Amino acid sequence: MSYSTNEKVRCLIIGSGPAGYTAAIYASRANLSPVLYEGIQPGGQLTITTEVENFPGHPGGISGPELMNDFKKQATRFGADIRMGTVTSVDFDKNPYIITIDGEKEIEADTVIIATGATANYLGLPDEQKYAGMGVSACATCDGFFYRKKTVAVVGGGDTACEEALYLSSLASLVYLIVRKPCLRASKVMQKRVKETPNIKLLFEHNAVGLFGEQGVEGAWLIKRKGEPDEEKVSIAIDGFFLAIGHTPNAELFAKWLSTDAKGYIKTHPGTPRTDKPGIFAAGDVADPHYRQAVTAAGSGCMAAIEAERYLLDIK
Ligand code: NDP
Repeated sequence: MSYSTNEKVRCLIIGSGPAGYTAAIYASRANLSPVLYEGIQPGGQLTITTEVENFPGHPGGISGPELMNDFKKQATRFGADIRMGTVTSVDFDKNPYIITIDGEKEIEADTVIIATGATANYLGLPDEQKYAGMGVSACATCDGFFYRKKTVAVVGGGDTACEEALYLSSLASLVYLIVRKPCLRASKVMQKRVKETPNIKLLFEHNAVGLFGEQGVEGAWLIKRKGEPDEEKVSIAIDGFFLAIGHTPNAELFAKWLSTDAKGYIKTHPGTPRTDKPGIFAAGDVADPHYRQAVTAAGSGCMAAIEAERYLLDIK
């Protein structure tokens, strides 16, 4: 297949979470006329979260979708060109860099800011596929509504798992939180809230190994203390099974050209969003295995736009 190059931009931003939109705000205010492609989940992961209580400037909290809508409005106000579309391939050997959108449109870019975020992990059980859309979900806020007055399970012990369990506890009659370790990894405040919620039942040292049900999920098989000689297989009756076991960076498209770490996160020069290709920057969760917060993503998006501006001045 041959493509015709039909557009050249100074700054192309890939992704529309806090990192991408913040980069767009700064790049447009620096007159870089940035073009931002939103990707498959416009607004990113915060659009599938409930209340965001830790984004500075919102003392009473704000809903994830509302926050992201504000980011977008602010970027648009300064002239960022925000478009629907997904990057399907890149060629970072050529300079200007070539980026293909939706398999058909090619764009040449002097600088690229990768802000593609991360995607929810699954356990890898065949039953997760079997019951996809029939009781298995990685997004409580998207699907919780279907489980009013029902029993559900959430897998994971981090902040996401606690947040999902708390959200579901307001809808479902009972929420099992299935944790593989004897303790939660979540922040103390979340741990306290979970432990104080009467309809959340913590199952420490349990691993989900399968699901069962005729028309959809009716229960899960769990192994207590996996690997121990006295491990025990038990079942719980549930209507919904939610995964909250971390994320994988959306960096696959770029891995051929940029260094990534063992988990696939794009490597950047310490303290900067610079990758090992000049003019290509990575911001937010795609390059951050440590903090993964909306505010740190926004901060790194700002840094990436400032770096892009300086790079463009240098190559002039
Ligand atoms: P984390 O990586 O923090 O936690 C993942 C959890 O899933 C851990 O408890 C882990 O267990 C468990 N897990 C991983 N793989 C498996 C598996 N195969 N089987 C069973 N359990 C598994 O991810 P989160 O998404 O919770 O959080 C990511 C980051 O975002 C964190 O920094 C967190 O603080 C932040 N965050 C903050 C929020 C807030 O402040 N409101 C809300 C949501 C996230 P183990 O502990 O044994 O490794």
